[in-house]
Amino acid sequence: MNFLDEERQAWKDSVRRWVDRDVGREYIRKCDMTRTFPFEAYEKAAKLGYHSLLVPEADGGDGGDIWAYALMCEAMACYGVDFAVAICGGIFTAMNLSLHGTEYQKKQFLQPFMRGEIRFPISMSEPNAGSDVANVQTRAVRDGDDYVLNGQKLWCSGAGNRGAVILMLVRTAQTPDKRNGLTVLIVPNDLPGMTIRPLNTLARRSITTTEIFLDNVRVPAVNRLGEEGQGFHIIAGEHLALERIAVAASNVGNAQGAVDDALAYAKQRIQFGKPIYEFQVIRHMLADMQTNTDAARLLMYRAAEVASSGQSYRKEVAMAKLFASENLQTVTRQGMQIMGGHGMLPESDMERYFREGMQSTIGGGTSQIQRTIIAQEMRV
Ligand SMILES: Cc1cc2nc3c(=O)[nH]c(=O)nc-3n(C[C@H](O)[C@H](O)[C@H](O)COP(=O)(O)OP(=O)(O)OC[C@H]3O[C@@H](n4cnc5c(N)ncnc54)[C@H](O)[C@@H]3O)c2cc1C
Repeated sequence: MNFLDEERQAWKDSVRRWVDRDVGREYIRKCDMTRTFPFEAYEKAAKLGYHSLLVPEADGGDGGDIWAYALMCEAMACYGVDFAVAICGGIFTAMNLSLHGTEYQKKQFLQPFMRGEIRFPISMSEPNAGSDVANVQTRAVRDGDDYVLNGQKLWCSGAGNRGAVILMLVRTAQTPDKRNGLTVLIVPNDLPGMTIRPLNTLARRSITTTEIFLDNVRVPAVNRLGEEGQGFHIIAGEHLALERIAVAASNVGNAQGAVDDALAYAKQRIQFGKPIYEFQVIRHMLADMQTNTDAARLLMYRAAEVASSGQSYRKEVAMAKLFASENLQTVTRQGMQIMGGHGMLPESDMERYFREGMQSTIGGGTSQIQRTIIAQEMRV
């Protein structure tokens, strides 16, 4: 029993078949090992219409609800979170354009995104703006028809890749409440004055996480998303909720991949004359891994259900993100133990899942921040 009706199950199965048949775990592993964005898979995904999911038909998309998006992320992550984020992550950023963009911005950026021609990284973080995202210092000053940007962004995943158009949170005013002085700009990554440097991070290796230096970068004012001063509210509202459901769903998908790989290994690895699966201690570990992954999946499905019904899902998605990301860490650590020395090799894939699990409790809001949100939403 997994609470999916026939249509949803068929959708999830079709995405999983695509990953197995048209992408393959070897390709995903190679992209991680060579720190290369999966361009070929990204373009194939666009041809299948995967990038048009959620985008309303009025904007040229295929519509679909958050349930469908969550199931796509879950299925896409069977061989790693980074791959799912590379293919599906642009959608949560693209939805900002659908919700707040002008007709010009939709034509200029949303349409090419759906065709697979451009990518949408999101750049909120800075050296002094991590969990405290409203502390953004990068300045954008209006000068005629442009904004002129100076400052430094940090941890932007995918900013350096070909065709990246960054949604960047910048400061346009110093206001008593620092949240009210922020604005989102749409910033192509090839503007004069931008320097983008890859970071040697533990995870997000295929997408590549970067730091961005901005030295008098001129961004046309027509690239402002929403009103000046609305940036924090755009990002902290719909954007982060959607990002968190994508992260939670990807974490569930990858945790299931880790359980499946560990089980398959335990059944074929012979020690002391029998498969290690026959040792009760290993069987119990596998039982815990599957039980906790099912629990994470149910929390994620609940968040998808609440979101798809149009209600606020702030608490439900924080719970799903918290539990699914911490479970991915636990399950992949147990998977490493079951695989013994073999788990240390890239060919096992488990070491990649393990690394990506470490990122999952940090990106999209740390576990501590998720607990803070859940506590804020609790009522007697
Ligand atoms: C590989 C990678 C990729 C990333 N990709 C992107 C991206 O594409 N775009 C983007 O904008 N950002 C990205 N990030 C940044 C990510 O969102 C931040 O790292 C995250 O929000 C945490 O910020 P921080 O690292 O500055 O940690 P800090 O905020 O400094 O937190 C450090 C520790 O203190 C805790 N802490 C902080 N404040 C509180 C509090 N109020 N209560 C309790 N505990 C607290 C945290 O939970 C954490 O344990 C990425 C990060 C990584 C590592």
